[in-house]
Amino acid sequence: VGPESSKEPTMTERIEGVTISHPERVIFADAGPGKAGLTKAGLTKARLARYYQQIAPLMLEEAANRPLSLLRLPDGMAGERFFQKHPGKGFPKAIRQMQITESDGEAAPYAYVTDAAGLVAAVQMGTVEFHIWPARRDRLERPDRLVLDLDPDEGLGFDAVRSAALSLRGRLLDLGLEPWAMLTGGKGVHLVVPLRRSLGWDDLKRFARGFAALCAQEEPDRYTVELAKASRRGRIFIDWLRNERGSTAVAPFSVRARPGAPVAAPIGWDELARISTARAFGIAAAQERGWAGVTRVQQSLTRPMFEAVEKALAG
Ligand code: ATP
Ligand code: MN
Ligand code: MN
Repeated sequence: VGPESSKEPTMTERIEGVTISHPERVIFADAGPGKAGLTKAGLTKARLARYYQQIAPLMLEEAANRPLSLLRLPDGMAGERFFQKHPGKGFPKAIRQMQITESDGEAAPYAYVTDAAGLVAAVQMGTVEFHIWPARRDRLERPDRLVLDLDPDEGLGFDAVRSAALSLRGRLLDLGLEPWAMLTGGKGVHLVVPLRRSLGWDDLKRFARGFAALCAQEEPDRYTVELAKASRRGRIFIDWLRNERGSTAVAPFSVRARPGAPVAAPIGWDELARISTARAFGIAAAQERGWAGVTRVQQSLTRPMFEAVEKALAG
């Protein structure tokens, strides 16, 4: 027996039919929101995989069959991180692939998942965060969600984000649209309007940009639609750029690669009014909460809605 074969065998673990290598690797060393479920050793790769296995039925309600961008941290929070939107050669079958023609006219492979095994296989590849297109793969040119990503300037607290979210909800309701809300697990909130798949990308973007611009026009001290950080001072950037073909937003129930392993957590409007941070929930809490209190209704952007926004903008 030579030195090679006397090495300790590498331990693996099977989760959802996926072989997890280095199951004890610590992805998050810190405990944090939702400490329950974290071992003393921190949040391990196996624990992360089991979280996604268990949350899969709820998470896939939104995340299944959409082109994905994966935020991978193969060595955990302490190591390097990178976004990957094109699956590599080594990707397992559970992470499915489709060809998408990009803006340059060239087709490129994109990853999507349909089941828990796909999520777990992505964790095996080092994925921590899942980001989704606002369109599903069977009708890629007909987006099915509008996302308004509220990004507060450095100095602003969560109370400003929360009141902005509630205020924008009111504006959308006035137009006839009913959004649901998600704490990002970072600094902000996403408002999501689920859409029937009737319009194309140009219309989605035009509406999102118009709506955001109208908010900034009417309350310039509160909102901005300029990407430049300098123009954000003391304001909330209403990031409407999540609504372009090829753009993504973090998926509901995705863990965030941020200290304490917070989760992007859907939240009911009543409950949001009582929340004081966008990192309120960890994996245990997110799992327990699920979609409780969140109403998602299919809606359409109608001509009168476009007119209401664009008339007010011009006027
Ligand atoms: P926060 O509340 O802290 O802003 P967030 O998820 O909204 O959290 P943003 O920086 O506002 O973070 O980004 C919004 C979305 O844009 C992300 O959820 C992600 O899907 C996408 N995104 C941002 N940066 C990148 C990037 N470098 N590569 C790919 N997608 C990105
Ligand atoms: Mn954001
Ligand atoms: Mn943003």
